[in-house]
Amino acid sequence: MSRGGSSLRGADAALLRALEEVRARCDVEARKAADPVHFVHRYAERDDQELVAMIASALAFGNVKALCAKIEEALSRLGPRVAEVADDPAAVRARLAGFRHRVYRDEDLARLLIGARRVQRAHGSLGKALTDKLDALGDLREALGAWVAEIREKGELGAGAGGRRGATHILPDPGKGSAVKRILLLLRWMARPADGVDLGLWDVPTSRLIIPVDTHIHKLSRNLGLTARTSADFRAAEEITAALARLDPEDPVKYDFSLCHLGMLQTCPSKRDPVACEGCGVKPVCRHWRRGAR
Ligand code: SF4
Repeated sequence: MSRGGSSLRGADAALLRALEEVRARCDVEARKAADPVHFVHRYAERDDQELVAMIASALAFGNVKALCAKIEEALSRLGPRVAEVADDPAAVRARLAGFRHRVYRDEDLARLLIGARRVQRAHGSLGKALTDKLDALGDLREALGAWVAEIREKGELGAGAGGRRGATHILPDPGKGSAVKRILLLLRWMARPADGVDLGLWDVPTSRLIIPVDTHIHKLSRNLGLTARTSADFRAAEEITAALARLDPEDPVKYDFSLCHLGMLQTCPSKRDPVACEGCGVKPVCRHWRRGAR
């Protein structure tokens, strides 16, 4: 539950007001249609939803229109029962043959899906596989690292690919320091309560989630003073999350969807620009527009 501003003062209270305003103004249905999470909502069975979320988040790399077209293509090749097909590695490979998206090839996506399905079957669900690791290790980043390692091992992801970038990039290791935005996005989709966008399928407390950071969120966060880090890496994601937790310790990433779509709609110049900044929802708390800013 949000602290509602009652115990917040000064800059945090102003930030909370601005973020609540951005959230309230976000046209959720319209923005969801432009977001890869909408693919997950097409499926009714939990096994299919988890695997579709894995595919959609893994391919969420690059221009949003182009990546949504590629997710559509992959899902249409796999048909309506993704989990059933994923039980048959030969069928997965046949259906995905020739698929490409940026650095990812058909074999990368096939191995990801096969590995995810094997983990899903071994633990009952991909979410249970993660919470088992979280219970054992205590730390979210370590648990995600072990979860990724198990999927990669079961799918032989990376093996036999000659060290090609796509085979490792499609499901990166959270221990390497990068922001692993797509993995944290998947986690947000699956763990935040069902609100029409996120699905509430995984039993990970929302207070443990870390914000998925891409260039838009990183730039906005710097402009809002949520982080001073110049790299959009895992530590920046942790810093931004900690800053948001001052506003709502129980659900610090609840502003991610609206901020992400604000970033898509508003080309942020990261400087005081009356034309480009016109209508920006966070202008009242942007460092470029505070009193005395140039
Ligand atoms: S007010 Fe301008 S510089 Fe600040 S976050 Fe918005 S678009 Fe970016």
